Amino acid sequence: MDIPSCVLCGGTGFTPLLTSAAMQASRFGRCNECSLLQMRPMPSQREVFDYYQTYDIVGEEHSYFRALWGPDSLATQEGMEIRERSEWVLATTPTPRRVLEVGSGHGLFLKLLSDAGVHAEGVELSQRAAERSRQAHGVHVHAGTLDTLPDAKFDVIAMWDLLEHVADPHRLIAQAAARLDSGGILFVETPDEAALLDRAILGLARLGVSWPARQFYGIHHLVLFRRATIRRLFEEHDLRVERITGASTYVARSFSGPGLRDRAARAFLGGLFGVAKLVDRQNKMIVVARKA
Ligand SMILES: [Zn+2]
Repeated sequence: MDIPSCVLCGGTGFTPLLTSAAMQASRFGRCNECSLLQMRPMPSQREVFDYYQTYDIVGEEHSYFRALWGPDSLATQEGMEIRERSEWVLATTPTPRRVLEVGSGHGLFLKLLSDAGVHAEGVELSQRAAERSRQAHGVHVHAGTLDTLPDAKFDVIAMWDLLEHVADPHRLIAQAAARLDSGGILFVETPDEAALLDRAILGLARLGVSWPARQFYGIHHLVLFRRATIRRLFEEHDLRVERITGASTYVARSFSGPGLRDRAARAFLGGLFGVAKLVDRQNKMIVVARKA
């Protein structure tokens, strides 16, 4: 039988993330050689494509994107996070001439850069998100992937919350590196699976409380990195890691209801995130790497 090998190092030995029956559906395993956490087997390209075409992009059930298209988008928690990212990119690269965002989603990051006078364009797998972000923010977005993007090079490429959604991270990072000018900068934000949040969720699952883990290790995240594994990925593509910074994102939005369970989850997450910041084990990491 053909055993799927590790998408980072090619290793074939894996340890299940959790062995309990409740968690087997998550299909996550950790590579015994490089320690990358990944779904096994990976969904096919087709399955990933189909998933994002039917994703709740207009917010019929979940208001996340819808809130980021309205006039008050920058006043939302997510809007403030996106503004911080855009300000960080502008501060790190004072005169970026051409910026590409891969997985531009709602388009708000592109809008903020365009408003700052930067040439910013996006590429987005979801046809609907590409259309709606053009309508809402007047941004320049190609529907498709880096495979179908017209030939062009960029000074800055940004991927916010994208890397964990792809089945072949080597391919994505190689394509991004090929699109960067020499000396160009790649910004990647992705979950840090060494975070305190992950430890807490796995600890709860071991105690028999597995619903947070089932939600957290659901079907849309395919690979989960930590600092060592993401360094390894980048360095194999001649991208020199200049900085890895911890970041917290608003995961409490998954528990926004008025019920007791959601209120308890929000209080727990608030405390946990405070401690995580103090001990530098936040739930996300932002990697800044420069092409040689
Ligand atoms: Zn591996």
